[in-house]
Amino acid sequence: MNPLKILTKDVPPQGLTFHWKRNASEFGFSPELVLLDQLEIEASLSPCENIFLFEGRVKTVVEEQCSRCLKKFPLSLEADFKIDYEPASAQPDVSGHEIELRPEEFDISYYTNDLLELDVDLRDVVLLALPMTPVCSADCPGICVMCGQLKAAGDCDCAQEAVDERWQKLTQLKKKMEEE
Ligand SMILES: [Zn+2]
Ligand SMILES: [Zn+2]
Repeated sequence: MNPLKILTKDVPPQGLTFHWKRNASEFGFSPELVLLDQLEIEASLSPCENIFLFEGRVKTVVEEQCSRCLKKFPLSLEADFKIDYEPASAQPDVSGHEIELRPEEFDISYYTNDLLELDVDLRDVVLLALPMTPVCSADCPGICVMCGQLKAAGDCDCAQEAVDERWQKLTQLKKKMEEE
């Protein structure tokens, strides 16, 4: 049995603590996401009748592409999580009117067949922690929109040329006015 899927009956009353290093392949990430390291998980699983609180921290390294310079770079990721496992029978009926508003501090995951699928939720924790616009470094200058060269390389003079062109037009205009 996959150790990342736990039967509720296997959780002792005092709960469980984990310090895992697991291979990324165990979590079923989509192939577009490249993980450069294992997932390091420090967590605890505490039962309270049929509700299980799974909380801790996950760390890994993913390969990201810089949104400014398009270079691939390793991004260290660290995310805290708090997940409340509740039996699927407790799931609110969305068609009904008795939806209870709950504080948002916990993510709720509904389990069926007495099975806590920690791998699925840990995968979601990692996916949610990915930045929307990753940057290789806070001061990445990006690429020149005109020639596509790295601005940091410093050997593109598009900006300079653009200025020159403007001056040129002005000079021409001035010359034209003088001639008239
Ligand atoms: Zn960059
Ligand atoms: Zn350029």
